[in-house]
Amino acid sequence: MISQTLQDALNGQIVAEIYSANLYLSMAFYMEKEGFDGFSHWMKKQSSEEMDHAYAIANYIIKRGGTAVVGNIDAVKQNWESPLNAFKDAYEHECKVSKMIDDLLDKAIAEGDKASQDFLWQFVREQVEEEATASSIVDRIERMGDNAIFNLDQQYGARQ
Ligand code: MG
Repeated sequence: MISQTLQDALNGQIVAEIYSANLYLSMAFYMEKEGFDGFSHWMKKQSSEEMDHAYAIANYIIKRGGTAVVGNIDAVKQNWESPLNAFKDAYEHECKVSKMIDDLLDKAIAEGDKASQDFLWQFVREQVEEEATASSIVDRIERMGDNAIFNLDQQYGARQ
């Protein structure tokens, strides 16, 4: 059985994952409006991965005898200056999420809840990838400049 403290913290993470999903969906709509169909596709995939994280956390809470709930989700940003700006926001957002996951793991460690620690390590590893991916897209856009952005758009449109 999971403790009330951890259950509440994990439910807080469900809110954060759905917020992330909404943020990336908002970025997808922005990219599509600006004519970047590839980036839009990439962001929709990203959004759906975030929903998968929310489902996984809910599934874990329930398996441990707890109750998963969907709390209030704050409204997300709706407009950006450029695709580069949106990806910079995505990178910063992922850094925040990494910190949240670290804090969750600290709580699980403090309680000696090994199952939750084990569950959360996969998210720690996932965040390494998320930060690296967002940061590499920012780097590529900055290095290649505006002329190459449509090539990058096409490239990221191939995301499976
Ligand atoms: Mg996530």
